[in-house]
Amino acid sequence: MAEVCAFCGTELKRFGKDTLVCASITQTVCKDCWTRYRDATQIERCRDILKHSWAKEPEQIRTFLEEREQEKAREQAKAEKLGRLMKCCGQPMTPLGMSEFQLGRTSWIFGDWPNLLAGAMELALFRCECCGQIKFMDPKFMKRKLEEP
Ligand SMILES: [Zn+2]
Ligand SMILES: [Zn+2]
Repeated sequence: MAEVCAFCGTELKRFGKDTLVCASITQTVCKDCWTRYRDATQIERCRDILKHSWAKEPEQIRTFLEEREQEKAREQAKAEKLGRLMKCCGQPMTPLGMSEFQLGRTSWIFGDWPNLLAGAMELALFRCECCGQIKFMDPKFMKRKLEEP
């Protein structure tokens, strides 16, 4: 049986074939599809390859795709939750990432009280695009909030 391209089903010539990895499975493909999918994401590759039945291990690709999509949905739900949690001027604040806040014993905020707190504290930063307000949150607390059902 002649070998065919996993994407388009074209019969492969001896020197006209290449390989692409799809969900960690190496697929044999024609030159055209190789050029077309070389820069595509894994999700795009998997989605397109499953449109036909020429791929190797289609079940494994399907599982991979489902997992990725679930992961994406979870990320999206998390982002929405974050948007509800961190609101200002009636809109979600922009997450700016993490920052380290230096806690020292001569800090003007704490006076010379908390020796105990000396060191660095990780903070999650958010900015309101409407009024410019910056909010700091304890990432541990945020994580807990976001993982709550
Ligand atoms: Zn092809
Ligand atoms: Zn605001």
